[in-house]
Amino acid sequence: MKLDVNALRYLSKDDFRVLTAVEMGMRNHEIVPAELVDRIAGLKHGGTYKVLRNLLKNKLVHHDATKYDGYRLTYLGYDFLAIKTLVNRGVFASVGRQIGVGKESDIFEVATDDGTVLAMKLHRLGRTSFRAVKSKRDYLRHRRSYNWLYLSRLAALKEFAFMKALGDHGFPVPNAVDCNRHCVIMSLVQGYPLVQVKELQNPDDVFDTILGLIVRLAEHGLIHCDFNEFNIMIDDDEKITVIDFPQMVSVSHRNAQMFFDRDIECIYKFFNKRFNLTSEKNEEQDGSESDGEGNSRPSFFSVKKAAGSLDKELAASGFTRKEQVDMERYIDEEAEGHDSSSENDDDEIGDAVPIDSLKIDQDGSDEPACNLASRDLDEPGTFTEEHGTSSG
Ligand code: ADP
Ligand code: MG
Repeated sequence: MKLDVNALRYLSKDDFRVLTAVEMGMRNHEIVPAELVDRIAGLKHGGTYKVLRNLLKNKLVHHDATKYDGYRLTYLGYDFLAIKTLVNRGVFASVGRQIGVGKESDIFEVATDDGTVLAMKLHRLGRTSFRAVKSKRDYLRHRRSYNWLYLSRLAALKEFAFMKALGDHGFPVPNAVDCNRHCVIMSLVQGYPLVQVKELQNPDDVFDTILGLIVRLAEHGLIHCDFNEFNIMIDDDEKITVIDFPQMVSVSHRNAQMFFDRDIECIYKFFNKRFNLTSEKNEEQDGSESDGEGNSRPSFFSVKKAAGSLDKELAASGFTRKEQVDMERYIDEEAEGHDSSSENDDDEIGDAVPIDSLKIDQDGSDEPACNLASRDLDEPGTFTEEHGTSSG
């Protein structure tokens, strides 16, 4: 998606205040009544309505008058809120070119004040289904727009938590810098996705390193679940960095063995096809799991015995059980090719929030830091209490 951050420069404090009010209203409304936006934003002299027109012109909100006069955030509006918050926090100062388009994310370069370039990943869970669902019944479409915010925020939070934990345990992953809403900031990885590499100096070494990583991850209690040539970066020295973690699961997941074997299989297949590693042929000939040098293919059971507890640490780090369940449900349904809207999606929205607790403090457009110890982003009131440092 095109991200024209120029508009950011021209948006005033009031613009962000109203945009934030729309976001807050979306906690319990698919389409937020203009009247409610106005009450949350609390601008004087009907200012909210003027601002809403400006936001609409900049495509930061979507107007919907089917049932009543109302608004919801667009992807762009949500992007701007996250970017604004992170810029206010001093995490980066400018947004550069787009460097990646994943199935469910957009990745951009961002630069700090001192010129350090970082990577910004904007999660877009439900993007594909969001389009597909347009032809479906109306209520599904609206529900989806809510889901997108919730799921993308979960994905970012999970990715950030996992990246940080893996980095702390010495895994070659980007350095997790910060996160807000659906946005993760991490160090920029040098090199290319392995899928783009046609030749390697030492394919055997790279292969061993990669398999070793899958095994070591499992020994720490985790499975990547999307471990393939698209999510492995390699630099000119053939050093490996693993990216893309929202779908990781614990080795105690009910399908853990299948995920583990699938990750291993992806790597075997790719190296066989691209670099002609003969291991696969040997396996097929004698039916044994050997790579031709007497090394057997890693088996889930042998690594699981040694499994560490990073999965439990992460579970305890604040990514709640319900959030885990919601993410997994989404991932499972996507994997099965289903639409992830279900009849009881509404429980994600939580209890109705009293309007009075949704008032924004005067400085406006922030949200609590990505605080893994206190998972209270959806709790009414925390917004106002925790914020107070942004400079508008
Ligand atoms: P998705 O979840 O949508 O697959 P990824 O995290 O795999 O997103 O990122 C998509 C692409 O963006 C990657 O294949 C890679 O080319 C690029 N990319 C992602 N993160 C980084 C990073 N930290 N540094 C450099 N490039 C990155
Ligand atoms: Mg990816």
